Amino acid sequence: AREALFQSQKLEAIGKLTGGIAHDFNNLLSVIMNGLELLRMTKDPAMVAKSVDTMARAAQRGALLTQQLLAFARQQPLRQEAHDVTRVIRSFEAVLRRALPDDMHLYFQIQADLPQAMIDPTQFESALLNLVVNARDAMGDDGEVLIDLDAVTLSEHEVERLPAGRYIRVMVKDNGEGMTPETMARAVEPFFTTKDVGKGTGLGLSQVYGMMQQCEGALTLDSRVGKGTTVSLYFPAVQKQAGDDQQEVALGFEKVL
Ligand code: ADP
Repeated sequence: AREALFQSQKLEAIGKLTGGIAHDFNNLLSVIMNGLELLRMTKDPAMVAKSVDTMARAAQRGALLTQQLLAFARQQPLRQEAHDVTRVIRSFEAVLRRALPDDMHLYFQIQADLPQAMIDPTQFESALLNLVVNARDAMGDDGEVLIDLDAVTLSEHEVERLPAGRYIRVMVKDNGEGMTPETMARAVEPFFTTKDVGKGTGLGLSQVYGMMQQCEGALTLDSRVGKGTTVSLYFPAVQKQAGDDQQEVALGFEKVL
């Protein structure tokens, strides 16, 4: 009986997913088709720019959707390597900005000289985009998102079940509507969404959560209704190995040559 229940829950989930995705894609395609229609009719540069912008955002949402689906369906293992997280975020900045409408703002606060972290850059970018899109959906005019990046030293169990050590922390803070404790408790469940059909699939945070588990990090939520939400990601920092410095010197020397 439990197996049957599980099966029916699975079918229900798949049904919800297919319905939600189909709606989403239809909406996005109609945004793009309307935009194209408008482009055919107008030469006004302001209208053209606005239309292109809207279409770009719709296409980007479509790309994020397929990303989420792939991550969910394949449960792909991460391709982790030591990366400079600051550099990865900086090179992704333009995409993140484009995810927000003009009346919302994105700020960065980045600690200098951070140690590297083991990440899969593609998945990391997709996680950031998920978080920024969630922030956008929770905010109104003059919404503000802050991406705060620093290194922290944690004692054991200070955060979730993380072992003591040094971590790179990425915080995405918004001043949006916040979550109720009930929503917060379920937010990382696959398919849990409070958004209208066609607006959300409930796969965003579960994807990010899955990634954090795979890289032996953690995800924490802090939210207050009417105040805003902070999602924090903790990545184990890469310890400098003895000999790293030497290699840096050697590389530097090579560059000079
Ligand atoms: P989706 O965005 O498709 O709904 P997610 O898994 O990303 O799926 O999020 C699940 C739910 O968590 C959202 O529907 C929303 O209720 C809540 N949520 C996530 N991020 C935020 C946020 N920044 N502010 C308020 N609520 C949020």
